[in-house]
Amino acid sequence: MNRILIVEDEETIADLEKDYLELSGFEVEVANDGESGLLKALGEDYNLFILDLMLPGVDGFEICRKIRDEKNTPIIMVSAKKDDIDKIRGLGLGADDYMTKPFSPSELVARVKAHLARYDRLTGSAVSKNKVIEIRGLKIDTTARRVWINGEERTFTTKEFDLLTFLASHPNHVYTKEELFREIWDMESIGDIATVTVHIKKIREKVELDTSNPQYIETIWGVGYRFKV
Ligand code: CA
Repeated sequence: MNRILIVEDEETIADLEKDYLELSGFEVEVANDGESGLLKALGEDYNLFILDLMLPGVDGFEICRKIRDEKNTPIIMVSAKKDDIDKIRGLGLGADDYMTKPFSPSELVARVKAHLARYDRLTGSAVSKNKVIEIRGLKIDTTARRVWINGEERTFTTKEFDLLTFLASHPNHVYTKEELFREIWDMESIGDIATVTVHIKKIREKVELDTSNPQYIETIWGVGYRFKV
């Protein structure tokens, strides 16, 4: 869940912001003065900061500057004065957004969501992970189409890769050469079934320590092949 820190000395405003953000599914903490806000901001992990400019103790300028020295977390600065907003922009403190009070809470929520989404895209945390199959020392990244044996990468032709991945994706399932041929070569069976045998041999040379005693692709005599787990 995304955690947000609000640094705001006016409690009614802080409470209103907190309520709306919590209703939108965020975890929210509030600091009512500059010192405690700065301590929390630097000492804990948050996904976004909402900083009021005028605060007792350390002001929003200073907090923004100190956060930026250490973190790239999105910062939305708020102020009661339009003039101050212009001033902050001019200072180039590294805030991501500025809002003038009073603003509607739903506008704040919309901006928070937009900044979190943008930050996720930048840091890649929204990128879906590659699909990886790992069986003992064999690792197949099916998205990147790469294969490693005990951490060492091996090169495969397209069909070798497809055949290995298909078998590894269906462990313990025995396939006949005809079935494998149809599955990988995508033709209605008039091809040369021996192609499968040749490819199995090539794959074994790359993944097996001892090809006469295969640990991954097992020959089921008179039937076909099975990927062992
Ligand atoms: Ca204030």
